[in-house]
Amino acid sequence: MKTLASYISGSWVEGKGSTTTLLNPATEEPLAQVSTEGLDLGAALDFGRRVGGPAVRALSFAERGAALKKMSELLVEHREELIGLAIANGGNTRGDSKFDIDGAAATLAAYADLGASLGDAKLLIDGEGIQLGRSPRFHGQHVLTPRAGVAVHINAYNFPAWGMAEKAAVALLAGMPVFTKPAGPTALVAHRFVELVVESGALPDGALQFLCGDPHDLVDHLQSQDALAFTGSSGTAAKLRAIAPVVGNSVPINVEADSLNAAVLGPDVDAGDDVYNLFLADVARDMTQKAGQKCTAIRRVFVHADRIDDVCEALAERLGDIVVGNPAESGVRMGPLTSAAQRDIVRAGIDRLVSETEAVYGGTGEVEPRGVEAGKGFFVGPVLRRAASADAAPSVNAHEVFGPVATVVPYTTAAEAVDLVRRGAGGLVSSVYSDDRGYLGEVVPAIAAFHGRVFVGSKKVAGQSPGPGTVLPHLTHGGPGRAGGGEELGGARGMRFYLQRTALEGDKTILAALTADAATLPA
Ligand code: NAP
Repeated sequence: MKTLASYISGSWVEGKGSTTTLLNPATEEPLAQVSTEGLDLGAALDFGRRVGGPAVRALSFAERGAALKKMSELLVEHREELIGLAIANGGNTRGDSKFDIDGAAATLAAYADLGASLGDAKLLIDGEGIQLGRSPRFHGQHVLTPRAGVAVHINAYNFPAWGMAEKAAVALLAGMPVFTKPAGPTALVAHRFVELVVESGALPDGALQFLCGDPHDLVDHLQSQDALAFTGSSGTAAKLRAIAPVVGNSVPINVEADSLNAAVLGPDVDAGDDVYNLFLADVARDMTQKAGQKCTAIRRVFVHADRIDDVCEALAERLGDIVVGNPAESGVRMGPLTSAAQRDIVRAGIDRLVSETEAVYGGTGEVEPRGVEAGKGFFVGPVLRRAASADAAPSVNAHEVFGPVATVVPYTTAAEAVDLVRRGAGGLVSSVYSDDRGYLGEVVPAIAAFHGRVFVGSKKVAGQSPGPGTVLPHLTHGGPGRAGGGEELGGARGMRFYLQRTALEGDKTILAALTADAATLPA
């Protein structure tokens, strides 16, 4: 069986000792193995700081952007091969795989464009200069310089290409070398992508390192100029926030964790109109795309009490079209969950809901998958539940079920809808579907502080929106509270995490000379 090596300290290396096996989650066929035991991760981070950092910082923004463009092109060039790996190792349908790989390519391309627009500069200024003394001579200017350490990226299993690419694009453009770790179960796509990047020579030595397998003592080696960006469970995030090197060295940490994303259907939206269909399509897509294993997927569906029967019926009809099975088979619209562990966690989440809600579609997720030997695969079918009220179903607002599961809950007033959305205690994105500006004016500002993004689904955008589940590079991704308190992407905003802001204070002419070649950080 193939062993996936790690790319650290300038070469491909395999660990010794115990290995972990990557599976096809539809068939349980072993695909590859990984081991990172015995690798010197402290030396690898040091290599990034000594070799990768200076090399990346020696490049202008335009040159860093050109490297990102090359990485994006590699994904496009090798798209079919990567799709094949995602279908085999991620349980992804072809559509799911394209979502991940094309999302990665588009994000890299967007940051490549941003790099080109910043041109030959290597330094950024932040805002206008400020007169500090009686005369204009004594002056202040904020500048932004890349942190002199390594950007350590720990990614989740659900987006092996996009998750890795979106973090790497921002850090590399900001001027930091990257040490990236994909989640173990779905590492095949990430591994191949890094192989392609290394073979291409797109990046200088040390700019991209890759750990394929258990992280062992990786985070114990973090130092004060490093940065840590994590996507995954709130439990792991809590551990990482508390480790001594992070606390003791004030290592900045960005966390994307759980999220009980809500969709609210406004009372003005009539059955059958464009906004209603957009809402139904978004809910059904989010439940089933990547088998609901999307951090931005809609988990809670809030509908006016008068409309709840119609909505449940319409959603059940759409879910009825979803063929679950081996994603390698044609006609299959939803694959398995990524691992046996995730299947068991999702089943436990459904069990919690069952005691508080009634079934609308899919019961408790039992399914006979197409094209799979009986008893094989980590499958859970789409499950739509319905609560009599939010108070009768506290689990809905308390536990994320990271699979093809959502619950419909009634509300009666805009104030009640706001209260229900806020019970998620901080999310990545929630959506409100309405054309009533008075209603939107009551709901949207009142839920904004609880989210990193609010999607407004209205008539005029119904035909061109990818839905709330798609993370766009120009907009921030992250959220307060339960969602981890992080913020990624958002165009140039995302680079701030990797940059130190410093106030320069002195003679205006000297400061002007020091910043002569700097670009201004775009809004
Ligand atoms: P996880 O256990 O937190 O793992 C996430 C990443 O952290 C993986 O790369 C994992 O590596 C790594 N990791 C785990 N322990 C670590 C440690 N001590 N030091 C350094 N890295 C460590 O999460 P998961 O099992 O992948 O997913 C569980 C839940 O997380 C889901 O059910 C869902 O609720 C949530 N989730 C959220 C998002 C999001 O985008 N917000 C995405 C996916 C999952 P290994 O894989 O090698 O263990």
